[in-house]
Amino acid sequence: MTRGGGVTVLVDPARGVGFREVAAASLEDVDAAISRAGAAFAGWRQVGAGDRARLLRRFAAVVDAHLDELAVLEVRNSGHTVGNARWEAGNVRDVLDYYAGAPERLSGRQIPVPGGLDVTFHEPLGVVGVIVPWNFPMPIAAWGFAPALAAGNTVVLKPAELTPLTALRLAELAREAGLPDGVFTVVPGEGSVVGERFVTHPAVRKICFTGSTEVGTRIMAGCAAQVKRLTLELGGKSANIVFADADLERAAATAPGAVFDNAGQDCCARSRILVQRSVYDRFLELLEPAVRAVRVEDPSRDTAEMGPLISAAQRDRVAGYLDGAKIAFTGSCPDGPGFWHAPTVLLADSPADRHWREEIFGPVVSVLPFDDEADAIRLANDTEYGLSGSIWTRDVGRALRLARAVDTGNLSVNSHSSVRYWTPFGGMKRSGLGRELGPDALLSFTDVKNVFIATEE
Ligand code: NAP
Ligand code: MG
Repeated sequence: MTRGGGVTVLVDPARGVGFREVAAASLEDVDAAISRAGAAFAGWRQVGAGDRARLLRRFAAVVDAHLDELAVLEVRNSGHTVGNARWEAGNVRDVLDYYAGAPERLSGRQIPVPGGLDVTFHEPLGVVGVIVPWNFPMPIAAWGFAPALAAGNTVVLKPAELTPLTALRLAELAREAGLPDGVFTVVPGEGSVVGERFVTHPAVRKICFTGSTEVGTRIMAGCAAQVKRLTLELGGKSANIVFADADLERAAATAPGAVFDNAGQDCCARSRILVQRSVYDRFLELLEPAVRAVRVEDPSRDTAEMGPLISAAQRDRVAGYLDGAKIAFTGSCPDGPGFWHAPTVLLADSPADRHWREEIFGPVVSVLPFDDEADAIRLANDTEYGLSGSIWTRDVGRALRLARAVDTGNLSVNSHSSVRYWTPFGGMKRSGLGRELGPDALLSFTDVKNVFIATEE
C-alpha cells in the first residue's frame, strides 16, 4: 500500500486563503531520495576540503543574490513580517558562509604513542536527515544542512507540511551554485511518512529534529533502535527575570519583542515574566504601553512588527489558553480573514496555572511576582523546559549567580539575544539534546576514527 503522496494546499496566514499546492512525497519517493543521497555521499566525501568550502561559499553567494525572493516567499507561506523574513534569509547565507570555513579546518589529532604514529580523523556520517518545523523554516533548515554538508555528509530535508516553499527554493539554489545532484535534497510531505522514514531508514545516519517535545521523544526512541545520532531542539517556556535594581524602562520596553516576535511562535520566547514584587506594579505600568504599541499588521508591510499565526488551528489552540485566565491587557490585531491573535498579557495566580506551565507558542505572556533571588531561581527552574531566558539586574554578581543557577542552554543578561550563528544554541532538560551552531556543532556531524600506523620494522 502506498502511503503519503497527494498534495498539500498552502494557505496564506495573513489572508486565510489557499494560494499554492505542493506535491507530498510518498514512501517510495522518500526511499528514492534517501537512496540518491546515499549514492551521492560516496562522491561528496571525496571532494577536497578546499573545493567543498568553495562550493558552500558559492551556495551562500547565490542565497545572498535571492534574499528578497526568499523573504517574499516566507511572508506569503508563513506570515512572517518582511523584516524578519529578510533576516532569516540572511541567516541562511551567514550560516553557510560560517560553515564554509570549516572543511579546511576539520583536522584531527596526532597523539604520541610508542611504536608508530596515531592520528584521528573526523569522518562524515553519511546521509543526514533534517526535520524542520514551521516556525522558522529557513534558519532551522540551514542550522542542520550547512554544518552537515561542510563535514562531508549528504542531506535529505523535510520541511514542515505547512511551510515547504523556502526549503524547496533553497534546494534549487544549491544546484544553481553547483552542488552535485543528490547532495542536498528537500522532500516535502507528512511527518508520519517522510519524517518517520528518515528515522527508520538505515541509510540515514543522523537526525536533526526541531519541533515539539512530544514528537521529539518519539524520534529519540526510534533512533535508539539503530543507535542513530540525534540532535533535538524542542519546546521552551523561558523566563524573563526582572529584578528591582534593573533598568526597568528598558526591561519593559524590550519584553514584548522577546515574546511576541514571530507572533510568539518561537521556542526561545520569554513567555514567563518574573518580576520582583517591589517593582511589580511599576513594571506592569511600563509594560502596558509597550504592548499596546506593537504593530500587528499585514506582514508584507515594512512597518509590521508582528504578523498572524501560522494556521487557524494554532490560533484556536492559543486562544484556548485565555479561558478562565486573568487578562491584564492586550495589544491589537486586524480583524477579518487571516489567523490573527492580539499580543496578550496574563497575570498568573500561581506557578500551577496552565498558561504559566505549558508552551503556548503564540503571542501570550504570563507575569508572576517573586520575592528574592532564591525565589526567582526556584520559579525559573520550576519547568520541564530549559532553552533560553533573560536576567535583568545592574548587580554583576547577581547576574552571574543567576546565569549559573538557571538550568537553561542560552541566557542573556540585560538583553534578549540568544541566537548567533557563531555561538552554541540548544536546550537543557526536555528542551533538547545536543547543540547547534557555533564552533562545535560541526563535530556532531562526524564520528572520530583513530588510526595507528606501525613504524617498527
Ligand atoms: P511537530 O509536530 O513536532 O512538527 C515538527 C516537524 O516534525 C514537522 O516537520 C513535522 O511534520 C514533523 N513530524 C511530525 N510528526 C512526525 C513523526 N512522527 N516523525 C517524524 N517527523 C514528524 O510540531 P508542530 O505540529 O509543528 O507544532 C506543535 C507544537 O510544537 C507547537 O505548538 C509548539 O509548542 C511546538 N514547536 C516547537 C518548535 C521549536 O522550535 N522548538 C517548533 C515547532 C513547534 P508535519 O509538518 O507534517 O507535521
Ligand atoms: Mg505536529
